[in-house]
Amino acid sequence: MTSTAPASTTSTSSNTLDDLAAAAVSAAPVLSAASGEQRAGWLEAVADRLDANAAELIALADEESHLGTPRLTGELARTTAQLRLFSTVVREGAYLEATIDHADASATPPHADIRRLLRPLGPVAVFAASNFPFAFSVAGGDTASALAVGCPVIVKAHPGHPKLSRLASSLVVSALADAGAPAGTFALVEGFEEGLALVVHPAITAVGFTGSVRGGRALYDLAVNRPSPIPFYGELGSINPVVITASAVSERGDSLAAGLASSFTMGVGQFCTKPGVVFVPDDGAFDDALVAAVGAPGSGTMLTQGMADAFASGISSLAARDDVEVLAAAPSSASSGSGSTTVLRTTAAAVLADPTALLEEHFGPTTLLVSYSTPDEALAAVGAVEGTLTATLHAGESEEVGPLVSALESIAGRVLFSGWPTGVGVTWSQQHGGPWPSTTSSLFTSVGATAVRRWLRPVAYQDAPERALPDALKESNPLGIPRRVDGVYEVPARS
Ligand code: NAP
Repeated sequence: MTSTAPASTTSTSSNTLDDLAAAAVSAAPVLSAASGEQRAGWLEAVADRLDANAAELIALADEESHLGTPRLTGELARTTAQLRLFSTVVREGAYLEATIDHADASATPPHADIRRLLRPLGPVAVFAASNFPFAFSVAGGDTASALAVGCPVIVKAHPGHPKLSRLASSLVVSALADAGAPAGTFALVEGFEEGLALVVHPAITAVGFTGSVRGGRALYDLAVNRPSPIPFYGELGSINPVVITASAVSERGDSLAAGLASSFTMGVGQFCTKPGVVFVPDDGAFDDALVAAVGAPGSGTMLTQGMADAFASGISSLAARDDVEVLAAAPSSASSGSGSTTVLRTTAAAVLADPTALLEEHFGPTTLLVSYSTPDEALAAVGAVEGTLTATLHAGESEEVGPLVSALESIAGRVLFSGWPTGVGVTWSQQHGGPWPSTTSSLFTSVGATAVRRWLRPVAYQDAPERALPDALKESNPLGIPRRVDGVYEVPARS
């Protein structure tokens, strides 16, 4: 392996990694055997500990990410709410998918007593994201969802916020220990090589990742090419197309323009759900409204110098094309490390001729308007978009939208109506994951209650004696969880 680790990154020695992995392996059966109530308590202890140290965490996060106190305050609150949501999920128990089919000699074909539920995979590796230093980092959604269902977690810190990662990790470790979780439940490693070593470590049973398509693809390939391949859940790049119809522009063009301006510049455009391409009628009305809504384009400090450089170079390549116009751009005097707000325009015909170059994600405060002349041309251009986390439709009040909805649904994990994709609710029904390249597996979500499904595998027990069954499958339902019994979904009354 060749190392390209940044000089500032502290590396974990391979001995340490082996020790941490061994501790995680020892903790795994304890976590698996712990009750949902116990694990829920551990998550709540972590949430409480983070909340109690909010001021220090937010100050450190701001120093390292430049995202600002208001945004980071909200993000930390979201992160602890997420930990508490997963507590509710494990207490409720439906996530186990407990299913019982009593033996039936009269069925065709006859069958034995079969009982199925989901079991934790074992130690999980989590690659923290740069752009959400709380919600997708050390104690973020991947960590919370894995711990919730009984998988020990080893996080590979993102080098964009090393001090914050160490503080958050120490708080997680101490909160878990104080709440009675076994040693080895959680650990942090740092360094590029350690990330590679973690993915191929025999102790690791699955990987969660948030970051670039290139990094995610390299680590995905590593995970599936191990002697024992493991699942790799990567949340990667996303262009998040928006379609605005002529009726929507005539009904509410100015407010749509204001909403888009706010959404694509939020957090200096460093959101995986940033609306990166917007299909608009070619009469120019929406373009003018957007330029007015953006006003004097500004710039903001980006997460890392590397991201600022990549953003600037991507935008200048696009702007240099004959088929792309710059409608608005911040002055080029922007300081080093900053990203300048830029609005670009092209045509649906150009997108259809060169979708790869024009529909590439540019992580930063930019959006590309794509002018279409007819609804059919809009539909064709949407068909050129690759897999994406979200797709948004703004249509007229009583407009027929069936074909557009079908087109958007075929490329995205979440389809929005009359809203903006930045802002991802942490709920039971959330879907944050779509077809490649937005994720490495469109079957799952990394946000919301069902994010736990990534760390679980089904096991069926055939003709097992009652004493050998997990509590979730015992005849009397001692856990009082929802179960499907002989085909009928049963939800016990809660006291
Ligand atoms: P990244 O470069 O993919 O890095 C994410 C993590 O993966 C880091 O811990 C990094 O380790 C590791 N990594 C990356 N490439 C690797 C490789 N080939 N082998 C082993 N480990 C590797 O993502 P980033 O630093 O957060 O941001 C870079 C770009 O990713 C952004 O400009 C943006 O385009 C995209 N991004 C997308 C999202 C999203 O949600 N869609 C979120 C964040 C970023 P080291 O840093 O130690 O090398």
